[in-house]
Amino acid sequence: MDLTFTADELAFRDEVRTFLRERLPQDIATRVKNGLPVRAEDYTRWQQILHKQGWAAPSWPKQFGGTGWGPVQLHIYDEEASAAGAPRTIPFGLKMVAPVIMAFGNPAQQQRFLPRILSGEDWWCQGYSEPGAGSDLASLKTRAERQGDHYIVNGQKTWNTLGQHANWIFCLVRSDPNAPKQQQGISFLLIDMKTPGITVRPIITMDGAHEVNEVWFENVKVPVENRIGEENKGWTYAKFLLGHERTNIAGVGASKRELGRLKDIAAKEHKNGKPLSEDPLFAARIAQVEVDLMALEITNLRALSAEAEKRAPGPEASVLKIKGTEIQQTLTELMMYAVGPYALPFHRESSEEGDLKSVAGPGYAAPLAATYCNARKVTIYGGSNEIQRNIISQMILGL
Ligand SMILES: Cc1cc2nc3c(=O)[nH]c(=O)nc-3n(C[C@H](O)[C@H](O)[C@H](O)COP(=O)(O)OP(=O)(O)OC[C@H]3O[C@@H](n4cnc5c(N)ncnc54)[C@H](O)[C@@H]3O)c2cc1C
Repeated sequence: MDLTFTADELAFRDEVRTFLRERLPQDIATRVKNGLPVRAEDYTRWQQILHKQGWAAPSWPKQFGGTGWGPVQLHIYDEEASAAGAPRTIPFGLKMVAPVIMAFGNPAQQQRFLPRILSGEDWWCQGYSEPGAGSDLASLKTRAERQGDHYIVNGQKTWNTLGQHANWIFCLVRSDPNAPKQQQGISFLLIDMKTPGITVRPIITMDGAHEVNEVWFENVKVPVENRIGEENKGWTYAKFLLGHERTNIAGVGASKRELGRLKDIAAKEHKNGKPLSEDPLFAARIAQVEVDLMALEITNLRALSAEAEKRAPGPEASVLKIKGTEIQQTLTELMMYAVGPYALPFHRESSEEGDLKSVAGPGYAAPLAATYCNARKVTIYGGSNEIQRNIISQMILGL
């Protein structure tokens, strides 16, 4: 594998760097680079800037308004955007439901929904999990009863990320409770969050953030035209989406940026009168995570090449999910170790305001505990890492 960039690729990298230097708002970049919370309006502002540039959906095909970039360009873009402090794009619209709409939606759905995802007008959220249906997703109970040209939806979704900002939700619902297999009675619906009967209730996580929600459906009327594909075939579309969710989770560019932050912190902190980065044990831990990240990067490039050849991400996406999330957690853990007790004081409000002040210790220590706590989620969502190991053992190793 030739890992050096061609002259064209280097020119593309320069173009990306110039764009980011000129157009990425510095207040947003400062938040991202310091691990401070990014606000909903920041995500939308950045999405609109990208849309103006024609870069709102790097991985979409050109016919739907994407860039048509190849795998190397996608890789360069991700790396440069992450390094510059661009926020991640919210994946639920761009990277999850959009590929499903492109592959299985009808032309009317494609024309209605895709442009509004690109422009950031619509904010999508994901309604898969329920209390009692997480890993065992096919046992979901939210019921959709067909009444003429509508479904009437009743039930509850949970762990819904950022649904408080969303105006659309894609949902898995049980449309045939009598199907011989659980997977056969599920449909995939697109639901307007403003429909009467929907209630969003916050779940506050241990870092003090309002990031996840419960979503309740009480006699919610959903037009049949909002169903993707065939009735009771939703499981096929759901699995297709999960493959996209897992490649997206690898987060190579962001982890590279965080590795840089870890090295900066380790150079500033001291142990026995020397920078922590010179401590052999700590340096070895940094080296280990860096090696793991390099291996992940190459594996991710292989997955991107497969996608470029129009192959949907397969079970290998599970490898990316496991390694990507373990690396993300290790990085937050090492940053906590580096500052020791100074990571403990925590003031959520000042973090929200973009403030790097700490009541004790250096400013960069202030958000580290919250980030560490928040990162516990990454080995759970998108299908827990234990479930990914099951997939690898069955689908790749044939055990
Ligand atoms: C922060 C966060 C955000 C999320 N966002 C969303 C969202 O936006 N939309 C959405 O639909 N869902 C979302 N989820 C839900 C997520 O997908 C589920 O939490 C996940 O699939 C696990 O399901 P569960 O929580 O019900 O745990 P369970 O399925 O009850 O699992 C509990 C434990 O048992 C293990 N386990 C279960 N079955 C097996 C098995 N067969 N073999 C080995 N181990 C097993 C699991 O790995 C886990 O450790 C989110 C979750 C979190 C934490």
